[in-house]
Amino acid sequence: MFYSKKVFYLIVPILTLSSLLSCTRASRYTFSNNSKPASRYTLDVHKEITQELNFDDDQDFKDSQKGFIAKLEGPIKSKDGMKEIFDPTKYPSLTQGKPPETVNPSLWRQSQLTAINGLFRVSDHIYQVRGIDLANVSFIRGKKGWIIIDPLMTTETAKTALELVRKNVENLPVTAIIFTHSHIDHFGGVYGMASKQELESGKIQIIAPKDFVYESVSENVIAGTAMSRRAEYMYARTLDFGPNGSVGTGLGSYTPSGEYAIARPTITIDKDRRLRVDGVNIDFMFTPGAEAPTEMMAYFPRDNALCGAEILGHTMHNIQTLRGAQVRDSLMWSKHIQRALEKYSKADVLFSSHHWPTFGNDRVVSHMVSQRDLYKFIHDQSVNRLNKGLSGTELADSIELNKNLAKNFSSRGYYGSLSHNTRAVYDKYLGFFDGNPAHLNPLPDVQSAKKTIAYMGGAGDVLEMAIKDYKAGEYRFVAEVLNKLVFAQPKNVKAKQLLADTYEQLAYQAENATWRNFYVQGAQELRYGVGMPAPPTASPAILSQMNTELLLDYLSVRVNSEKANSTDITLELNITDRNEKYYLTLRNSVLNYSMKKPQEQNRQLASNDIASISLKHGQFVKLAMGMTSFAELDEKNINYSGDKKVFENLNETLDTFPSTFNIVTP
Ligand SMILES: [Zn+2]
Repeated sequence: MFYSKKVFYLIVPILTLSSLLSCTRASRYTFSNNSKPASRYTLDVHKEITQELNFDDDQDFKDSQKGFIAKLEGPIKSKDGMKEIFDPTKYPSLTQGKPPETVNPSLWRQSQLTAINGLFRVSDHIYQVRGIDLANVSFIRGKKGWIIIDPLMTTETAKTALELVRKNVENLPVTAIIFTHSHIDHFGGVYGMASKQELESGKIQIIAPKDFVYESVSENVIAGTAMSRRAEYMYARTLDFGPNGSVGTGLGSYTPSGEYAIARPTITIDKDRRLRVDGVNIDFMFTPGAEAPTEMMAYFPRDNALCGAEILGHTMHNIQTLRGAQVRDSLMWSKHIQRALEKYSKADVLFSSHHWPTFGNDRVVSHMVSQRDLYKFIHDQSVNRLNKGLSGTELADSIELNKNLAKNFSSRGYYGSLSHNTRAVYDKYLGFFDGNPAHLNPLPDVQSAKKTIAYMGGAGDVLEMAIKDYKAGEYRFVAEVLNKLVFAQPKNVKAKQLLADTYEQLAYQAENATWRNFYVQGAQELRYGVGMPAPPTASPAILSQMNTELLLDYLSVRVNSEKANSTDITLELNITDRNEKYYLTLRNSVLNYSMKKPQEQNRQLASNDIASISLKHGQFVKLAMGMTSFAELDEKNINYSGDKKVFENLNETLDTFPSTFNIVTP
């Protein structure tokens, strides 16, 4: 609602009077924890995007439905039937019809596409199950059975997909499993395709890119707690779906909540090579260091079909994923696509590990060209501007996507965004510091917030101006300034409510699904506090694959520097079932380890009585990961020698990390 000037002059004195009466000027705003409708500024953003994009183009919907065979009608349950793992009907029913006013229409369209679930025939020998997990699983008809590409994220969803194929296409055994890359949505469901025993027997070929197990396991370990907390925001793991909540992830619908595992490859790919797998020729193309640390595409000559793994998809992907991860290389990404174009531009069909396939050679090539250009554009234009002296935030605001690319739905930022990707490129080349000495040693958030609010005239004035700006649709700045106020005064309910309302409008405006999820989750935590943590992604099957050195690196991260200030200990660690021996020293608040005895490394490091502990790998996993302590370990299965107090001393210096921590409040 807005007022004409005349009315405005009439109501201002009344408002001033009522403000005085209620002792607070901020009462002109109706504060509450309720979701608010979309503002006219939000609707303007939606109107603009509706005019910019061709919503009559329904090619993606046709491609998503092409080759439909069967649909999953009911929810996927856990083995005991007690828990719902994934409901493929819930999400489609929430994304039907015209976009609600509280969802960006372009994101709504993408959500409708990712909601389509079922089994589809992609080409003569290739099938896909889509929309029952975050990712797709592909089935290739081999001579004797099914070759599976990317067995989804959980045992339960993978098993459902296999049953769907066996029931509706052919009831064949699984002969090979291909993992395209090291992200859990592409391997976690492997036990749904074959049992642990079958996988370990070597009967089923397992093909993965180089360092697959290490990269898969390690990415979520060292900084795992922080990533998993932030993943709650990014993937809306505890949020409700709907017009005021999450509408998916842009990449797929949502992450299922089942069991995860991993399997060791029998063949690894470290360069481009052709393999014959169950009677089928497959050309693997090694594409590391881009979307994932290790990844590969695959070309099937028999079907003239290219599997784009997660390098090619129907969104702009992340150069920096918002859950937190190392910055990816957008230039390398574009080069991989360029190389795929040089090798496989003859392909008639392109299918990937997310989204729907692209059919017809002309369309395959133009899709690959626009994806290649998209990642090179992000790289080149970010570097172009940082060389002109622009900072990360200036970069993010100054770059507009090339007009041709921007018209293409597949180039739009549903998962990655041009804004945060350009900042990631800045970070990759120049790091967090922008060169401005004012940013060299800033005060921490709370101290800075308190002083800023005081400089601005105090909370009352700040809130008053924030309401005014909120009503004028200045959400980005209101978010920035109210975040300061909340950090200065975390008990200021009005500040938190208005900030939640601000995040909500930003969520409604966002074309990017993960931005939307961050804003909605942020609003929810401001209104109701931090909820229960989402279940962790570390499962016994994945934990068992962690090598001892990775566990020791993690154990080192757990050392609390203050508590360990004067600790000086040396100990011997024997992992009996792996025949491994490490010497650990904790000195200078740093835990080091080596396979060499300290006195063999240097006489100075010699220590006479080294206490030792002998235990199994599984026990050490629990110890290193903080799932148990030295005191709680079952002593019957552990052998100690030397001074046992050393272990107590070590234990006293170790932190365990909280599964939740505050993000939108201090
Ligand atoms: Zn994925």
